[in-house]
Formats: sequence, C-alpha cells, structure tokens
Amino acid sequence: MDDDAGRNTVLCYMTQRYRELDEQVRTFMPLCGSACPSGCGICCTSEYEPEVTPEEGEYAAKYIIEFRSDLESRFDRINSREYCIFYDEHSPLHCTIYPVRPVICRGFGFCGYTTKSGGFAYRPCRYMEQTAQPVTIADGPVLSNYHFQYACASTTLPISDAIFRAWQKLRYRMAEGEEPDAC
Ligand code: SF4
Ligand code: SF4
Repeated sequence: MDDDAGRNTVLCYMTQRYRELDEQVRTFMPLCGSACPSGCGICCTSEYEPEVTPEEGEYAAKYIIEFRSDLESRFDRINSREYCIFYDEHSPLHCTIYPVRPVICRGFGFCGYTTKSGGFAYRPCRYMEQTAQPVTIADGPVLSNYHFQYACASTTLPISDAIFRAWQKLRYRMAEGEEPDAC
C-alpha cells in the first residue's frame, strides 16, 4: 500500500468510527439524565485545548479546503489564540467545523468511562443541568475506545495546531499539483 492509499484508508476508517461514536452518543443522551445549558460552550473555550491526532487534523483540514475555505482566515489567529480557533459564539452549534470535529469534541459531556471491573460509568460535566433521573445502562460511549483504534500516530497536538499543520501540508501538496482526496 503506498502512502496516499494508506492515508486514505485511515481517513475512511475515521469516517466510520465518527459515525459509530455519534450514534452511541445520540442513543446515550436521553438516558444520561443531563443536558448542556443553552448556549454553553465552556468545553471549547477553557484554557485546556484538547489534543488530537495528526489524522484528525488532516480530516478537518480537507473539509476546510473543500467546503469552508472561508475559515482559512482563522489560521491568522493561530499564535494569538486563547482557545480553539474554530469556536464561534455566534454560530448555533458554536463549532464552525462541526461535521468534522474530532473524537474528543463529539463526546463532550456525553461520554463515560470503563470501570476497573469492566463496567460502564458516567459522570456529567459540572456545568450540566439535570433534566431527568439517569437510566442505568451496561454500555455507553467511552472515548478511549475510539481514540486508540485509529490512532497510528505517536504524537498529538492541540486541535488548532493539528488542523493548521495538516492544512499547510495539504495546501503545499495542492500547489505542487495534487488533488485532495475525500472519503
Ligand atoms: S473543534 Fe469545534 S467542538 Fe472542538 S474545541 Fe474546537 S470549536 Fe469546540
Ligand atoms: S459539556 Fe459541559 S462545558 Fe461543554 S457545553 Fe455541555 S455543559 Fe457546557
């Protein structure tokens, strides 16, 4: 398998895994008894910008180049940012790259963890509101199940940097005559 084919296989695999995680989160949301207060975006604007793999950066960078070139000007803020450069308090979902947001963003507030005995447990984010009694379930979304199954990279970077670096590389390759491929 050449480098391009290998890379595309990873990106296609990520599409599947993103869909699976979204489905698990959608199923879990009404069971967990918690909801985000309207307009809250603290998980995107806290000092800690989540780290993601270079593959996730490439996945989002392709989308920006193909569908949202209007977002490219956001890279001008890369060195002066206080939080993820794709956050927009005026957009309804706050995230300007919502369809291609990384795993960690897909799970914000609605993922649990695996207990020592192998069970599933969940703790809501401290900013959430309780809307109903949580339902006890044996299985639910666990972020680590999604991170490590496609992460063939040894490094991670803050979201903005991962996407910026991938975008620079893709733009360079396109300037050299390559077409971006998509899944
Ligand atoms: S990529 Fe989107 S969801 Fe993730 S931190 Fe940035 S703005 Fe928030
Ligand atoms: S997960 Fe927590 S911080 Fe993030 S939007 Fe929901 S309530 Fe706010």
